Amino acid sequence: MASLLGNLFILAAPSGAGKSSLIKALLEKHPQPERFPMQVSVSHTTRAPRPGETDGVHYHFVSHETFEALIEQGVFFEYAEVFGNYYGTSRVTIEQTLHKGIDVFLDIDWQGARQVKALMPDTCTVFILPPSLEVLQQRLTGRGQDSDEVIAGRMREAVSEMSHYDEFDYVIINDDFTDALAELESIVMAQRLRLNKQQLRHAALVQGLLGNNER
Ligand code: GDP
Ligand code: ADP
Ligand code: 5GP
Repeated sequence: MASLLGNLFILAAPSGAGKSSLIKALLEKHPQPERFPMQVSVSHTTRAPRPGETDGVHYHFVSHETFEALIEQGVFFEYAEVFGNYYGTSRVTIEQTLHKGIDVFLDIDWQGARQVKALMPDTCTVFILPPSLEVLQQRLTGRGQDSDEVIAGRMREAVSEMSHYDEFDYVIINDDFTDALAELESIVMAQRLRLNKQQLRHAALVQGLLGNNER
């Protein structure tokens, strides 16, 4: 899949560090689909929808049985068990989107990131760290979408998720949101300008400029 025009990005972080907010803000900041085609991958999950979450938009919400049937059918590019639920990324959607030259963002945990990096080594992986554990707890509480019990569970998992930060290509500390967004934007732009993608995207221009003089 090395010659696909679109770039694959993974954002991972402990729950509440700001992955979803950063991806959403990045997409809203670049609404020009011709210049910056990007999409967030919609995962399948067995967890229950939160208030305000819509099936097919935030996740494809499925039962445990359905998820296991989809695993059997080889539907998933990667999947993992996170906080006692299954989460997975569909293979066909990712491949078709990248093939069209659209960048794809995966908001997935470290186990999924590892699987994807092994399958597609040129995936750009980014880990988001919170400025402190206290702030992380405040954000989870402030989001107002999970029970105290769920938040306590996610805080317990946070340190173990963060211990994998050194398996990623880039690390962003999400303290000031505007700074963190600018940092994410720089990573995305740099990845997009890499030689192999520019050669594919601008093959006609290079041919026009160099003719047959390409070394
Ligand atoms: P959040 O942490 O508040 O964003 O809560 P979510 O319930 O949206 O995500 C729960 C966990 O599942 C996070 O660690 C995600 O990174 C992970 N996750 C979400 N989608 C996927 C996926 O498609 N594959 C994998 N492997 N993990 C996922
Ligand atoms: P994740 O997707 O990693 O679980 P979210 O994007 O849902 O995290 O962010 C968790 C909460 O923290 C949200 O209420 C969000 O508005 C808030 N948040 C995210 N980044 C920042 C930041 N830099 N400063 C203050 N609040 C933030
Ligand atoms: P939440 O339940 O808060 O939506 O997500 C919890 C965690 O699951 C987050 O860290 C999120 O990144 C991860 N996650 C969501 N979808 C997937 C997925 O498809 N695959 C993997 N591996 N992790 C996912």
